[in-house]
Amino acid sequence: RPLTMALANETTRVVSQFDFSDQDVNVHVHEFLQQMSDGLEADGTSLSQIPTYVTGVPNGTEKGLYLAVDLGGTNFRVCSITLNGDTTFNLTFNKVAIPKELMVAKTAKELFAFLAKHIELVLREHHAEHFESHVRRRNTASTPLGYRDELIFRLGFTFSFPVKQLGINKGELIRWTKGFDIPDAIGKDVCALLQDEIDRLHLPVKVAALVNDTVGTLMARSYTSTGKHRSILGGIFGTGTNGAYIEKTEKIKKPIEGEYDTSTSEMVINTEWGSFDNQLNVLPSTPWDKALDAQSVNPGIQMFEKRVSGMFLGEIVRLTIVDMMKNEKTSLFKDLNSSFNDLWTTTNISPQSGMFKPWGLDSAIMSVAASDNSPELSTLRQELENTLHVYNPSLEDAQAFKAVANAVARRAARLSAVAIGAVVLQSGKVDDPDEEVLDIGVDGSLVEHYPFFRDMIHEALAVIDGIGPEGAKKIRIGIAKDGSGVGAALIALVAQRME
Ligand code: ADP
Repeated sequence: RPLTMALANETTRVVSQFDFSDQDVNVHVHEFLQQMSDGLEADGTSLSQIPTYVTGVPNGTEKGLYLAVDLGGTNFRVCSITLNGDTTFNLTFNKVAIPKELMVAKTAKELFAFLAKHIELVLREHHAEHFESHVRRRNTASTPLGYRDELIFRLGFTFSFPVKQLGINKGELIRWTKGFDIPDAIGKDVCALLQDEIDRLHLPVKVAALVNDTVGTLMARSYTSTGKHRSILGGIFGTGTNGAYIEKTEKIKKPIEGEYDTSTSEMVINTEWGSFDNQLNVLPSTPWDKALDAQSVNPGIQMFEKRVSGMFLGEIVRLTIVDMMKNEKTSLFKDLNSSFNDLWTTTNISPQSGMFKPWGLDSAIMSVAASDNSPELSTLRQELENTLHVYNPSLEDAQAFKAVANAVARRAARLSAVAIGAVVLQSGKVDDPDEEVLDIGVDGSLVEHYPFFRDMIHEALAVIDGIGPEGAKKIRIGIAKDGSGVGAALIALVAQRME
């Protein structure tokens, strides 16, 4: 019993280190606004504030048939999307795993030829008639591709690697990530690489837009959110975190190199907010945040993301719990029938458990912890046993785990509110009586599946100076469904209008 009492005290002590007060929220919003503004002035700042050349968001009346492709990791996805013009859409979806050897091909051509071939397969499968009619008309038409312009599919290309964007359908690859390594592609325009291979197959397809997934989320949400409210921000809270919002072009002081439509006086900005506060002026740093950063592949970088997103929250919890287990005065995950000479032999966790491996604790279990409110925490205890190989976790173990997980997630939600709140303030629309709703589209497993994540964000928005409870009521945060495909289609449409 003294051991479990000590555990309760230790848990309280640890949990309090993840407190993020109302005052903290405001200090962070202030800094976030400052760093947003710095990023609009010059390159090389904490927030990159990348101009996307997308100069408007949809209102739900857009119509047409578009293609969207997504290259971002293990799979290549091809969708065709019919926008019905009444905020609804229909979507067909195909995906293919990228062969490992193509991820490290000698030339970019090999990878992009594979992508084009897959686009052809999808066209033949889902748009056979359209495709055949293109082929028949090819010889009689007047465009360089040999197709009538109105019969050419516009394609939005979601490419989730670091790119220097130079136009709505132009961007140079800065570096590969996520296991890809094709040196020959670095510095090249990825849209042109794809277009070349599409042309080689004589497909009636134009790569019309290069799309970042956050911009896609903003566009998709703006199209589907019913009523007259265009969305102001798209945010991702999944493996990583990032946001894109609408900015007045006059506030973008740094040069925008390529051409864009100036008629709207707006442009979508990709904030790259995962790197907010890389110099650590304000972000909270517990010993476990520091340990996580030190063992990461990019120490000192993406400091906001390391406190907010799915890839990192589980690891913060793991590092914290392991530290608490090392405290000999508490009973946490210990076999109380043994002596305490050796932590690893007295613990009631299998040595093979993810609990003892860096990145071994998936943040999904935090959602399980948060949603189990039963007196015995039986679902969570079962999950600890199934996924982390804890033998017979006690109620006290599960309570401590739940408390730590909740504290880490709650801090993440309040930090998310910092980013969202700063963008809301930047929009200048909080006090505008004509703006009844400030709509925000979000996507990602964390915000979608963690219980009450959006409620925790809302609670923190209400304490922000300049927003307050009244302002927070106007803010509507909704999930952007199928964001990547629909958003890319919508950006292709915007691009087509600029042609
Ligand atoms: P991506 O961002 O790669 O497109 P997701 O939005 O599915 O994919 O996010 C995956 C991340 O979300 C992973 O880091 C995973 O640990 C985390 N995750 C998955 N399910 C949950 C959940 N139920 N609760 C909290 N985090 C989750």
